[in-house]
Amino acid sequence: MNKKYRNEDRETASREQIERWQLEGLQRTVRRVYERVPLYRERMDDAGVTPDDIKTLDDLRRLPFTSKKDLRDTYPYGMFAVPMEEVVRLHASSGTTGKQIVVGYTRHDLEVWSDICARALTAAGATRADKVHVSYGYGLFTGGLGLHGGVERIGATVIPVSSGNTARQITIMRDFGSDILCCTPSYAMYIAEELEKAGVDTSAMPLRAGIFGAEPWTEEMRRQIEQKLNIRAYDIYGLTEIMGPGVAYECECQHGMHVNEDHFIIEIIDPATGEPVPDGVQGEIVFSCITKEAFPLIRFRTKDIGVITHEICECGRTFVRMSKPRGRTDDMLIIRGVNVFPSQIETVLLRLGFAPNYQLVVDRVNNLDTLEVRLEITPATFNDVTTVLSGVERGIAEELKSLLGISAKVTLVAPGSIVRSEGKAVRVIDHRKLLD
Ligand code: ADP
Ligand code: ZN
Repeated sequence: MNKKYRNEDRETASREQIERWQLEGLQRTVRRVYERVPLYRERMDDAGVTPDDIKTLDDLRRLPFTSKKDLRDTYPYGMFAVPMEEVVRLHASSGTTGKQIVVGYTRHDLEVWSDICARALTAAGATRADKVHVSYGYGLFTGGLGLHGGVERIGATVIPVSSGNTARQITIMRDFGSDILCCTPSYAMYIAEELEKAGVDTSAMPLRAGIFGAEPWTEEMRRQIEQKLNIRAYDIYGLTEIMGPGVAYECECQHGMHVNEDHFIIEIIDPATGEPVPDGVQGEIVFSCITKEAFPLIRFRTKDIGVITHEICECGRTFVRMSKPRGRTDDMLIIRGVNVFPSQIETVLLRLGFAPNYQLVVDRVNNLDTLEVRLEITPATFNDVTTVLSGVERGIAEELKSLLGISAKVTLVAPGSIVRSEGKAVRVIDHRKLLD
């Protein structure tokens, strides 16, 4: 039978019930981090607040924010709230200086993660009878193993393909008869185009739904993916610091993502003042973990911009819905699902001895993100023969590939040719028109 909800009692709970879970979870977690994470104890002492002061959900606002910088400063394990004996998995995500953020999970954390991904899969119509094709990357990146756990949790058949080698993806999809596809939306588009080129009739394939996230995408892109692959395409949101994919998931109404409020509290704040803004008003998304054991963050500022609504959804789920993230408060780019900060690229260029006149040009060609690094050379280098210059371009590209894990085209340009700005330098030109 096609189950509509994975955990009906949770997903359709009353607001009062959700708030009771949230208050209990918050009190427990605040006590936990106060006792076990020195950074939180210090911050709370400075703010003059103790775990006993958390008496209502509104008291959340008395707690200090956590930033990505805090995670870098305590790298690698300073924010862990359990001894390593209890940690059963590590994942990582990129930081602004190339230093990664490391997060840990206990056995129980992994179970919760599987549960929330199972909710997303069930909402997309997945059942035990389905074969779920996971083309998110496996490894330290949370995408692959996150969805993988969800598929196992519902008892469906997981096909752990990981990312890359599109020809092979397509062969597997056709031969194995994949029913549900999980990957980034841009990769879904790419697969769709390749199928089209190969003249495959997608309506004859069993594939009927996809769960796509980890990067921004538009309604227009959803329409195209749905039409080309002949499927329903669902959004999923998450971030490594909080859990990975599944923090919020879309239902059949495809109208905002339900936040798993029995595990996370979402707040939308004015990034300038830190004050909460009402439903429907755009602001920075902030999450607090209320059931996590190994790596519970309180009021983590995601730097994603979004809005929420408490209006009840037609699907019957009562969890608050968040919009697709509409942008970032920082300069992080997401290129082929990989988080890239311009400062990481700048560090490489400076290390290799180049003056910091550069520009990053991001585009989407054949539905795949491209990155070009335009770099000015000095007059002296400019007179070198072309073969030497192309060697330099290759060298920089290799260095970027090994640091960031993504391919970039490096183009050396004439001295003085990058337009100087009178204000803030224009470092990034993003031709991808992603937001509606
Ligand atoms: P992920 O595995 O989800 O990519 P990362 O920690 O690498 O986790 O990146 C998290 C960031 O990715 C989020 O803060 C957000 O900017 C972006 N992101 C994740 N899911 C979505 C989504 N569905 N739509 C838009 N952006 C997303
Ligand atoms: Zn819904």
